[in-house]
Amino acid sequence: MAATTVAANTTLSELSRMVGNTPLLGIECRFRGKRRVIYAKSEQLNLTGSIKDRMALHILRSAYETGQISPGDTIVEATSGNTGISFAALGRALRHPVRIFMPDWMSHERKDLIRSYGAEITPVTKEQGGFLGSIRMAEEMSARKSHVFLPRQFTNEANVKAHETTTGPEIWMQLESVGRRPSAFAAGVGTGGTVMGVGRFLRSMDKGIKVHPVEPAESPTLTTGIKVGKHRIQGISDEFIPEILNLSELDEVIQVSDGDSILMAQKLASTLGIGVGISSGCNLLSALTVQENLGPDAVVVTVFPDDNKKYLSTDLLHSEPAREGYIAPEVELLGLSILQRTCAFCSTSLTSLHRIS
Ligand code: PMP
Repeated sequence: MAATTVAANTTLSELSRMVGNTPLLGIECRFRGKRRVIYAKSEQLNLTGSIKDRMALHILRSAYETGQISPGDTIVEATSGNTGISFAALGRALRHPVRIFMPDWMSHERKDLIRSYGAEITPVTKEQGGFLGSIRMAEEMSARKSHVFLPRQFTNEANVKAHETTTGPEIWMQLESVGRRPSAFAAGVGTGGTVMGVGRFLRSMDKGIKVHPVEPAESPTLTTGIKVGKHRIQGISDEFIPEILNLSELDEVIQVSDGDSILMAQKLASTLGIGVGISSGCNLLSALTVQENLGPDAVVVTVFPDDNKKYLSTDLLHSEPAREGYIAPEVELLGLSILQRTCAFCSTSLTSLHRIS
């Protein structure tokens, strides 16, 4: 019998089978006396456990197509964590060395995971400029060395496209399979790729759909335009307004407290068995806030960007006091429905979807 041949190199198209096409969860709850449903994409189920795999895969694919990256080039990126984990894993699978610059206050699980994929990390202190310092150092490295590819997630339109061509269409089709259409989408802003890309796709289907960026109440950079205060929702609000985020295309910014987000994420794990990170708690609360304005029957969608395993050493795994104004204590989680992953056939028939003018 002929021996089975195993491909020496993983290809982008093979990796793409482990990224995206995530289930859409219908979170059933009671809030302020009314039964409601909020829909959330289960992005913790991606290859490395976060939504950033979609962006990393799409940026690498576009860079190969346009000749911006060649085999063996070093991938160098500034990131608060999940992006580094995605590029470290996908980069290694494609045989690229990976170098990550990141603020030194990010959870140690993030740093250990990046190192576990064979990538090198340069921790950047507050004195060295924190997040902005990380971006500057990545740029300086690419100016000094050849054979370096910079994904530049904060300025690269391929980040937005990743969500415009995958996350957005998946949401539309999954809701359509149960005869529903989205009224609004809300998501915390790190690079803004998720909210811009999903928002653009949903608005191309129905321009009446509301699209809300979300920020931590303790550090309202989107509202003030500057870095203010500090917060515990890792992955969002990275000290500045990213270039790919166009606030004039979006509806009003929603603010959520970090402690409230922690309480909500804890409740998702302990009540429904959905172990997600702090920004997922934040996103669910923002979606409920939007629904409160639109009415309890509005179909409001968000994303759960990552799982809870990267937060074992953070406040997510400790008792969090409920403060005045928090809404998580008022949310009674009742159950879960799960809308299937989309199939390859459905994705290709997207152009035949009915657009609402
Ligand atoms: N939550 C987490 C945990 C993240 O890592 C990120 C990405 N930094 C986001 C939310 C925000 O996603 P985006 O960069 O697409 O705005």
